[in-house]
Amino acid sequence: MLKYVDAKVVFAEIPDEITLAINISGCPCNCKGCHSSYLAGDIGKPLIEYPKGYSDDFIVHVDELIEKSSGISCVSMMGGDSDPCLVNVLASYIKYTYPKLKVAWYSGRQELSDSIDLFNFDYIKLGPYKEEFGPLNSRTTNQRFYKVSGRELVDITSKFWKHEIEN
Ligand code: SF4
Repeated sequence: MLKYVDAKVVFAEIPDEITLAINISGCPCNCKGCHSSYLAGDIGKPLIEYPKGYSDDFIVHVDELIEKSSGISCVSMMGGDSDPCLVNVLASYIKYTYPKLKVAWYSGRQELSDSIDLFNFDYIKLGPYKEEFGPLNSRTTNQRFYKVSGRELVDITSKFWKHEIEN
């Protein structure tokens, strides 16, 4: 099971999108200097669960979150590295059920999990938080933000950096 702590409409996490960002708990990444260390706990409400009994159907709890967030263009799962398979299933569900919405994932891992099918995603962020390099909006960041183009990842991290005006 993946659980979430809260879900908010945000504007800066995914460039050019109005995003419902779902903060997933149970983060196993343990980044030094983590801005949200409470997300390591097994807290919050169910977001997606494995099938129960003889059913083949995963149990999702995302519809109410999406339906009460009018005006969004994107849904982003913030975390979920404890079970990327469930992240992938949830992304697939959102893509199928809400075809007009983009789907994003913020992972704290350096490498993309083998459980992820890029077909289900429009954006992927990879990389742990490292204090010495800073977050995505720092030019020295180690983290990378990708737009999914077909089966390729296109690095658009620089969209988070403020561009100086050249004279
Ligand atoms: S991935 Fe994010 S939430 Fe998890 S430990 Fe690192 S900074 Fe914290």
